Amino acid sequence: MKLALIGFGQAGGKVVDEFLAFDSRIDGGFVESAIAVNSATADLQGLEHVPQQDRVLIGQARVKGHGVGADNELGAHVTEEDIDEIQGAIDRVPVHEIDAFLIVAGMGGGTGSGGAPVLAKHLKRIYTEPVYGLGVLPGTDEGGIYTLNAARSFQTFVREVDNLLVFDNDVWRSTGESVEGGYDRINREIVERFGLLFAAGEVGHGDHVAESVVDSSEIINTLSGGGISTVGYASETVDSSSGLLSSFTGDDSFDEGEATNRMTSLVRKATLGRLTLPCDVSSAERGLVVATGPPEHLNRKGVERGRQWLEDETGSMEIRGGDYPTTDREEVGAIVLLSGVTDVPRIQQLQEVAIEAQDRTETVRANAQDEFATLMDTGGELDALF
Ligand code: GDP
Repeated sequence: MKLALIGFGQAGGKVVDEFLAFDSRIDGGFVESAIAVNSATADLQGLEHVPQQDRVLIGQARVKGHGVGADNELGAHVTEEDIDEIQGAIDRVPVHEIDAFLIVAGMGGGTGSGGAPVLAKHLKRIYTEPVYGLGVLPGTDEGGIYTLNAARSFQTFVREVDNLLVFDNDVWRSTGESVEGGYDRINREIVERFGLLFAAGEVGHGDHVAESVVDSSEIINTLSGGGISTVGYASETVDSSSGLLSSFTGDDSFDEGEATNRMTSLVRKATLGRLTLPCDVSSAERGLVVATGPPEHLNRKGVERGRQWLEDETGSMEIRGGDYPTTDREEVGAIVLLSGVTDVPRIQQLQEVAIEAQDRTETVRANAQDEFATLMDTGGELDALF
């Protein structure tokens, strides 16, 4: 499906940058336009692939290009003030050619955390195309302020978008990695999963497996109804020459059985392995299974079996399935999109920690005011200068 990507804040910009690189690497064609919005000049300059004219600096009058710190209320405020600047860049997007907007942001910071929900609200008011969010949750070790920001932003963002796709940094970090190196790797994991999903809806027809190819409307229907979504992915390297050979010789008995079994177990692995946001799979309202890989390794039965398995696992009658044939990757994979998930312990934990952090901040602030008043109180014996 064709997307207009908008990366908000540092994490959002970097992920969108990575989406552009991925799209051109796999010749996916799912990125129609890419815009980066930030209140920090340096972050915009650090991007590699987003075109210069599509990098929008906001909040200059207030923060002079230095960012909003981790103040997401200020992030929301400068976005409201400078929404026309962002709209200026969106005016260059051929909106009639896109299937949806996708706003990407780290939920724990300031600019993206505060700005992404404001932009979602704005876009929904103007356009009829769906507006999706891709929200990145902070690691639990990032501290109270990031957790509080994320929980408040999440609450707002999910309300303003048509569906919020979620990626949790916490479950994807590895020990012993530098923060920067870690993010580079994590960003590649993000774009591989969501990128393959969106590219799947962008395959030209006329392919020999075209009848079972996933269409953008299937992704849109899976995401419709709102709420939160998560994605699973599992892949296996295949020797594409063996598949080709068997299709040349017409000996497809080997192909069929092996391809079906492989796909069924990949769908299970994708679903039961590490999701972008861990959740109880049975709480999903809708789902989509996409089989990806060289066409000679894909068959209808494999996707159908995987789809049926997911139906049983989720108890949902709304599980769609299809192919995304790729000729240049020696990998067969399964992408599983679970939409409308409700049993998500991580979100509950995030909210609990955030409420605690909010209460503690209020108490500390009130105490500090009292203590300062006590400190400065001389019982009226000392006069200030003026
Ligand atoms: P902003 O620029 O004020 O919107 O804030 P940032 O985007 O720098 O940070 C917000 C949150 O995003 C942080 O708390 C991190 O959890 C996360 N983050 C920052 N950079 C990256 C990145 O490159 N990749 C990922 N996955 N997360 C990031």
